[in-house]
Amino acid sequence: MRVLVTGGAGFLGSHLCERLLKDGAEVICLDNFYSGSRANIRHLLPHPNFEVIRHDVVQPVWLEVDRIFHLACPASPVHYQYNPVKTIKTSVMGTINMLGLAKRVKARVLLTSTSEVYGSPQQHPQKESYWGNVNPIGVRSCYDEGKRVAECLMMDYHRQNKVEVRIARVFNTYGPRMAVNDGRVVSNFCVAALRGQDLVIYGDGTQTRSFAYVDDIIDGLVRLMDVSDFVGPVNLGCPDEFTMKELAQMVLQLSASRARVTFSQARPDDPERRKPDVSLARERLGWEPLMPLREGLERTVRHFRAVLGLTSA
Ligand code: NAD
Ligand code: UDP
Repeated sequence: MRVLVTGGAGFLGSHLCERLLKDGAEVICLDNFYSGSRANIRHLLPHPNFEVIRHDVVQPVWLEVDRIFHLACPASPVHYQYNPVKTIKTSVMGTINMLGLAKRVKARVLLTSTSEVYGSPQQHPQKESYWGNVNPIGVRSCYDEGKRVAECLMMDYHRQNKVEVRIARVFNTYGPRMAVNDGRVVSNFCVAALRGQDLVIYGDGTQTRSFAYVDDIIDGLVRLMDVSDFVGPVNLGCPDEFTMKELAQMVLQLSASRARVTFSQARPDDPERRKPDVSLARERLGWEPLMPLREGLERTVRHFRAVLGLTSA
């Protein structure tokens, strides 16, 4: 099986490349290194079945592949808001290009969509049938609406051109190999706690998120691609819900840090709560998130300790 992973040098992409190689696939990692890094995939370079292509998905690419995992897109608000026009181009044109490729070579294609398609949800927990509450003109729209268009393209190529598609709606994911400067909450809190700097909560810290460990999500993506023939979005996330205050306390405890927690202005359009209903993934994929937050955070803190040169991993 020859598998293309776009965004393969990123946080999730690099773990996915590793898993696919272990499963015996030939893996082509395609990335423009905007938010990913060579360091994430350096250990895979000697593998005889691994290849890397520097390429921007906004431009078409012609390759012979059987499967496409389409992950390329910055995922941290800090990164996707830095150049919002580029972000939406990446989602829309990148997905058109991958679907065009899939159509031509008859490959099956999986999109990593996001829980952000639910916006600031008025249904809780979120089921796939919920259409969401997204601000179409706000500072998060380049990402949220970009992914909503990407999902629409997936379904239209399926209906119109019979392309085999899979759509994963991934909820907040964390774990080793998140970049120190990623900007998302888990990495920010771990890095600050280990450096003895303030953990800054945006808003009053009562907003919630449900955090899934990277290995669980990778397993979900692989199952969605291979195990199931389900077309249509499938939530992948961990249904345990935490406030940002709770998360900050847990990180401080696990890193034995005496850093302070401080509060700053809430981010515009920051969703107040988020929690997946994963019954569909359970039924269709036999999938269940296994890693408890405390244990996953322990591993993540250990990773950042090593990266920051505070101890070995
Ligand atoms: P990431 O930023 O670490 O990885 C994204 C990768 O895509 C990077 O390697 C980046 O260089 C590459 N990329 C960006 N724009 C590109 C372009 N135009 N052409 C080629 N490569 C490009 O983020 P991640 O957390 O690994 O997210 C991967 C995917 O999963 C994204 O599609 C994201 O929307 C989705 N997702 C992630 C989460 C999460 O919590 N990690 C949640 C929901 C959805
Ligand atoms: N957040 C925070 N401090 C940080 C980074 C994020 O309080 O240093 C909050 C952010 O406002 C949001 C939550 O943590 O309410 C999750 O933010 P993240 O950027 O990780 O993901 P997203 O908002 O896309 O779910």
